[in-house]
Amino acid sequence: SPQIVWLRRDLRLADQPALHAASQAGPVIPVFVLDDDRAGDHAYGGASRVWLHHSLESLGNSFGGRRSQIVLRKGDAPQILAALADEFGAGAIHANRHYEPWWKKAEEELADALPEDCTLVLHDGNYLMPPGSVTTGSGDPYKIYSPFAKSMLDCLPPRDELPEPDIIHSPETWPGSDDLDEWSLLPTKPDWAGGIRNFWKFGEQAAHKRLDWWADEVGDYDEGRNLPSQDTTSRLSPHLHWGEITPVQVYHRLKDKRSSGWQTFLKEIIWRDYAQNVICQFPDYARDSYRDYDERTLWRNPNSGHLIQEELECWQKGMTGYPVVDAGMRQLWQTGWMHNRVRMICASFLVKHLLIDWRHGEQWYWDCLVDADYGNNGVNWQWISGTGVDSNMFSRIMAPLSQSEKFDAAGYIREYVPELADVDDDCIHDPPDDRRGDYPAKIIGHKEARERALQAYRDSKNG
Ligand code: FAD
Repeated sequence: SPQIVWLRRDLRLADQPALHAASQAGPVIPVFVLDDDRAGDHAYGGASRVWLHHSLESLGNSFGGRRSQIVLRKGDAPQILAALADEFGAGAIHANRHYEPWWKKAEEELADALPEDCTLVLHDGNYLMPPGSVTTGSGDPYKIYSPFAKSMLDCLPPRDELPEPDIIHSPETWPGSDDLDEWSLLPTKPDWAGGIRNFWKFGEQAAHKRLDWWADEVGDYDEGRNLPSQDTTSRLSPHLHWGEITPVQVYHRLKDKRSSGWQTFLKEIIWRDYAQNVICQFPDYARDSYRDYDERTLWRNPNSGHLIQEELECWQKGMTGYPVVDAGMRQLWQTGWMHNRVRMICASFLVKHLLIDWRHGEQWYWDCLVDADYGNNGVNWQWISGTGVDSNMFSRIMAPLSQSEKFDAAGYIREYVPELADVDDDCIHDPPDDRRGDYPAKIIGHKEARERALQAYRDSKNG
């Protein structure tokens, strides 16, 4: 009987456990459902929709090359899949597990809605180890990254990677499919996605090409990873997020490298697994805080004052007067991605310098990042804010000007803040007033902001 493969963030043919199992059991009907309502405030953001369009287009071509196709449908995923299973007499629906709370709920609803002779078969495929499987000696999940990573390193290597299916049989008749272009995932007027298209190549093949390139570069990751002016990180994050490539494939491709760069890189990939481990324990992690601060005292709320709203907009548009922050926020807007070091600096700036609730930043990144990931984004925002279950503290405040100098962001600033293109290296991190031209003055002084943040922190603890 036909086997439905429910595609979500697993847009690939190789190392695809759900597709692999389905292809061995019968004719395959791959289905992607655009279920826009289910995720609420975490429905796909603007940049994610652009990536999704191109990735589906690319995967559709790959299936086409295998004389297969993707069936595109829009609406409530469990209902649509259950109806398709019924209509086409599917023996099983195969899917790779996803751990966002709305997807876990959808998996439960689907299992309940299926016709009696159809089963839901869930596979593990998008992480180094199945989330929840790395535990303490007493079987509890880890809350803190370092012991989690140590334990995971002891559990590695991960499973073997799976090849592309030898044969993907088609069903006798195909269900009708929507036309991808009619989903309007791409912006039209204005078309703000040009920068994203220039910066990226989408899809499974592009992901592997980037990994091939990265295999020659990873040895320098220790030094390179903090330098935003250079292309010295893998830039695999959107490919990993959308499941165009798996961390298991990355691991097996790089494992013989033995360099310290590879060891450091592996720990970053483990952060990704850690974030899933956190959202499995705390499904509302991208919304709730887990410390005993009085958040009403701590944050300046943009909804309560015109000025604070304007400050939030200056941050979003890259007009804070701090060159490295503005370069980062403009890189984000133009390319859908931001260098990790700068993601940290910009996030810390919003939360500590402007004292604006991290949730506003989380939502902005969510909308603008092509790799916007419920686990990674929530965990990193909480880490920067010191509001999560991990070990970081609010009182750790990053100094954007010295970070910019230390990590040599001059080239990066010139690229993304053209107003400062002619300013010399020695003053570009904090240009004097007469060298700023049209570029704005600092929205708040660093020392003043730091003192205000620490005071607010103390008040929120006492309150
Ligand atoms: P590399 O340095 O090459 O790292 C390799 C891979 O490891 C990345 O592709 C990513 O999958 C994973 N990784 C690296 N750092 C982290 C990390 N700190 N946490 C989790 N995984 C990590 N990453 C996302 O994928 N999606 C997000 O929505 C996201 N939001 C973030 C928000 C904030 C405030 C911060 C500080 C970081 C966020 N990150 C997020 C983590 C990190 O910035 C990106 O994964 C990284 O910059 C992607 O670039 P890269 O692929 O070149 O990374």
